[in-house]
Amino acid sequence: MPLDILPSVCPHDCPSACALEVERIDGNRIGHIRGARSQTYTHGVVCAKVARYAERQHHPERLTQPLRRTGDKGVGHAAFAPVSWGDALDEVADRLTRAAQRHGSESVWPYYYSGTMGLVQRDGINRLRHAMRYSREDLTICSMLTGTGWRAGIGVLRGVDGREIAKSDLIVVWGGNPVSTQVNVMTHVTIARRERGAKLVVVDPYRTASAEAADLHLAPLPGTDGALACAVMHVLFKEGYADRAYMARYADDPVGLEAHLATRDPAWAAAITGLPEDAIVDFARLYGCTRRSYIRVGYGFSRSRNGSAQLFAVTCLPTVTGAWQYEGGGALQSNHGLVALDRTLLEGLDVLDPSTRILDQSRIGPVLTGDCRDLGDGPPVAALFVQNTNPMVVAPESGLVRRGFARDDLFVCVHEQFMTETAAMADIVLPATTFLEHDDFYTAGAHTYLQMSRAVLPPYAECRSNHDVVRALARRLGADHPGFAMTPLELIDHTLRASRLPEVAEFPADGWLDCCPPFETDHFLDGFGHADKKFHFRPDWAGLGRDHALLPAFPDHVAVTDDGDPERPFRLVAAPSRSFLNTSFNNTPSGVAREGRPTALLHSAALSRLGLADGDRVRLGNAKGSVVVHARAFDGMQPRVVVVEGVWPDHAFEEGVGINLLTSADPGVPRGGAVFHDTSVWLRPA
Ligand code: SF4
Repeated sequence: MPLDILPSVCPHDCPSACALEVERIDGNRIGHIRGARSQTYTHGVVCAKVARYAERQHHPERLTQPLRRTGDKGVGHAAFAPVSWGDALDEVADRLTRAAQRHGSESVWPYYYSGTMGLVQRDGINRLRHAMRYSREDLTICSMLTGTGWRAGIGVLRGVDGREIAKSDLIVVWGGNPVSTQVNVMTHVTIARRERGAKLVVVDPYRTASAEAADLHLAPLPGTDGALACAVMHVLFKEGYADRAYMARYADDPVGLEAHLATRDPAWAAAITGLPEDAIVDFARLYGCTRRSYIRVGYGFSRSRNGSAQLFAVTCLPTVTGAWQYEGGGALQSNHGLVALDRTLLEGLDVLDPSTRILDQSRIGPVLTGDCRDLGDGPPVAALFVQNTNPMVVAPESGLVRRGFARDDLFVCVHEQFMTETAAMADIVLPATTFLEHDDFYTAGAHTYLQMSRAVLPPYAECRSNHDVVRALARRLGADHPGFAMTPLELIDHTLRASRLPEVAEFPADGWLDCCPPFETDHFLDGFGHADKKFHFRPDWAGLGRDHALLPAFPDHVAVTDDGDPERPFRLVAAPSRSFLNTSFNNTPSGVAREGRPTALLHSAALSRLGLADGDRVRLGNAKGSVVVHARAFDGMQPRVVVVEGVWPDHAFEEGVGINLLTSADPGVPRGGAVFHDTSVWLRPA
């Protein structure tokens, strides 16, 4: 059994973008996948779901050939019949053309997200979009609220090298659960604890596996992290932990900030967050007396109507103490802005017509059901071409999404690896390659490497890559752009050259190029990203988004959340599970076995008030609908909080619709963003 070990890069929607070593067996199958040791952020570690990727790669339910729907929407495989690639692509091109002729080109909406993070395979759909003047897509579903909040103070989307966590004396994981969702953070935390005796603090509304591992866990109510951050800063100023010399040099208005925070004391924050006043003070003192303090800023607490404001408030902490200036100090949310790539060729930016409309991907439900807040005077969406995402399940307010996809007058083509809930609603389904079957390159959120990977396996069955499908459609549609004539490697090569980076032939042989800037830049000692080079305690919210009216001048608690009422007293957090990644991996046997079934974590006080016992069925609901899950007693959170982990497939729920039936498509402020953890619900025995 000949075995090769080949380098690759994890393409999944996860900040770690791990460098991989893939066992290839007989040239056709994979065995284990390990983390590459020579890539010093991955450090030889990957998560369990990718270590056993063979389950997904060789899953018996992989799509093998193009399909045309012959039965009802939503049924799945039984409602489809095989069709040739040529006929399938001809039909898709014909239907997109007819939609454009009837309603205008903006009635076609190419819809995608991060099922792969590879820049060639993920973003080529934009080249087709721009060449055809199809509707543009506002990418709000994951990182809009974080990116806006981060840039508010810092001005540029990068932070301190994640490897410096290992050199820190205090790591604060704020709004994330890296044990489950970003295992590499814990690698570097473990080194810091072992070698420096570092402390770990986790801020999260429930006691996650990461919180279990922490020295201190703070569990504020969802949507109140901004208040906690303000009270911490109040203590930092009051008790002499603020680095006034640092702020005088590097911040815009520290005097104004201190005056503003005078009334944001721990008692004020305790009333908002539900945390004990003492716990807030203890945390503030620990943070204040530790120079090398590193905040790993997660996504969880951004998924709220006030998420950008909350995230901004947290980024102010290392500026108040001056932690940015020390090795092992500062903060990181994402490094996707670190490498300045010229994306013209990848995305066809040179043929983009800025007058084409932009539709918010998180509001696909309202968009498809004709909400005038989204469509204005424009045409309805008459045709969807979907790659790399499963909006029927992952998008908020999924009842509306379902109604939209059910429209008889909507044509849908889905290019996918599996018969997802979205594929089951399509007219044409096309089988897609996995990352192991195509070439691509990747930036990363968590580290500083630009990484390239080559195909490890030939395409499975009749699967084709996103790039191949996009260029085949472009040919049929008459879309003109030099990028359509190139191979993925040629696209990568041209993009690297245009970005003044080492071209393909000069790229490191293992595929990872460390783009970490020098210490002064990495730590913003040569200035933050704004024109005045200062950190902004007074952000220009108006410059960041049009819905800025409710955002305050300084960091604050912004009370715009769905904070419930007597009818809906519980706060629902739809958190990620360890074994799934959005809906990727929610069909692999070992992951499903580990996760069990859709489950609501309920405080024992809530359980007894409802007359329920551990394991009983409970119905969660609000005006959008209700779902039934099993309850599990769990006291690691405030009694008002309910947690349902994992984006389970719809069929795992008794009534065939998943948890996003309850979440809202309201946009976060000021620039949009999905508010998955900002939902109030009622609970009843089922
Ligand atoms: S931790 Fe994230 S990037 Fe690394 S292998 Fe797992 S899913 Fe992929």
